[in-house]
Amino acid sequence: MKHLLKIVTTILLLHGTAFSAFAEKQTPGPKGGKLLENDAPRAEFFVEKDHTVTVTFYDDSLKAVPHASQVVTATAEAKDGKTKLEFDKKGDVLVSKSPLPHGDGYNIVVQLKKDPSAKPQNFRIKYDTHICGECNRVEYACTCEE
Ligand SMILES: [Zn+2]
Repeated sequence: MKHLLKIVTTILLLHGTAFSAFAEKQTPGPKGGKLLENDAPRAEFFVEKDHTVTVTFYDDSLKAVPHASQVVTATAEAKDGKTKLEFDKKGDVLVSKSPLPHGDGYNIVVQLKKDPSAKPQNFRIKYDTHICGECNRVEYACTCEE
């Protein structure tokens, strides 16, 4: 029995290794938020305790870099209607002028422009504030394989 258990454990471990080698693991946002899949400087979408949103920018080595000329807006698609969030520069980061709508379980579309005249890129975030049991991160910023 003990021997069998050891074999099973070994198989599971091997599987685990194989999986992690192929799984496209997402880079975790350094502050605990969602790192958007935009070109560097990457933007991290982080919801503060007061439900306002902070966007921080990072270079390739995930070192925070000051906000340059990027323009960010976000639209929260809550059940009782859409709320548009606009951002102000505060030090090196961008902060939303208003908080996200109450609750969670809705989508947020983040629109990012490299500079005011650039083509916008949209990123969809499923806003869920539960803690993921696997990576221990907030679900909207979960880095587990989808
Ligand atoms: Zn996770």
